[in-house]
Amino acid sequence: MKKSSLSSKKPQMQSEPKLPFAVQHQRAPGLESKLNPKPRYAAPRYRAANKLEGKIALITGGDSGIGRSVAVLYAREGADIAINFLPQEKSDARETQRVIEALGRRCVLLPGDLTNPKLPAKLISATMKEFGQLDILVSNAAHQAHKESVAELTEKELYQTYETNVFACIRLVQAALPHLQPGAAIIVTSSETGLLGSKGLQDYASTKGALNALVKTLSMELVEKGIRINAVAPGPIWTPLNPSDRGRTAKEVSRFGADTPMKRPGQPEEVAPAYVFLASDADSSYITGIVLPVMGGTTVGG
Ligand code: NAD
Ligand code: MG
Repeated sequence: MKKSSLSSKKPQMQSEPKLPFAVQHQRAPGLESKLNPKPRYAAPRYRAANKLEGKIALITGGDSGIGRSVAVLYAREGADIAINFLPQEKSDARETQRVIEALGRRCVLLPGDLTNPKLPAKLISATMKEFGQLDILVSNAAHQAHKESVAELTEKELYQTYETNVFACIRLVQAALPHLQPGAAIIVTSSETGLLGSKGLQDYASTKGALNALVKTLSMELVEKGIRINAVAPGPIWTPLNPSDRGRTAKEVSRFGADTPMKRPGQPEEVAPAYVFLASDADSSYITGIVLPVMGGTTVGG
């Protein structure tokens, strides 16, 4: 019997791009269009099944990286999308929008800086105005910059990291809650750094630890309302975040992810299905308050 083209391929785990990558660095926020190789977000082996038909999702950081892949898979599952990003990332956001519209779904662009305390409420009201409902909130934007020592962590940087990674997430949940119906899902992008710590990421890793505790705590409150909240903790993933981390060298970027058991970074398309799983009532209705590791073989206790 002739093998199908799919089954004759190497497993995805073994066919994603291998290291080393090109030596490269960008200014933050980086652009996906400038990365070499291009991150894989399209998930061609993924089979959609209308799991999110009729749903509306708001995704922060949906222009690039993990957020772009989540936006595309949600659209493939039948959802319409609103994405937030920084104004400097408009070209990446337009590309995400182009791909989603080619799938026959809507993608509304909502640029703005999440360190502005008023932005989260504006994003929620803009989404409600456009679509009249909100079913899935993905709080995914983050700021990251390595430092040699905690002594180098300036007050400005500390605020930028906490405002972007934690405060914006709390404000988004506060603003979204009055609109979320039973069956709604909130997904927060955490990180393995929040579980394991990470040398040189004093502020960033601690924000991810805070998000893990936040998700567990909010799950206790929101379960009464029929709303689930979970986190995904990715390992090293090939996105603009690390190539634009000003504390990383271009050489380090070319070896990003080499320390994982898989000896390579993950691709956004290898993380995004976890966000479909956690958003889909049919798949994860008995799951709330978890931190789901997607870490290329690095294990955690518990
Ligand atoms: P990315 O650069 O593609 O996405 C991060 C996004 O954050 C940017 O696109 C930008 O739109 C947004 N952002 C940053 N500062 C902002 C601000 N002030 N206002 C509004 N938006 C802002 O990189 P990514 O790796 O896909 O990051 C997505 C999430 O994944 C982040 O929470 C990150 O911490 C997390 N994560 C990434 C990795 C990795 O190795 N790439 C590992 C673990 C966790
Ligand atoms: Mg971006």
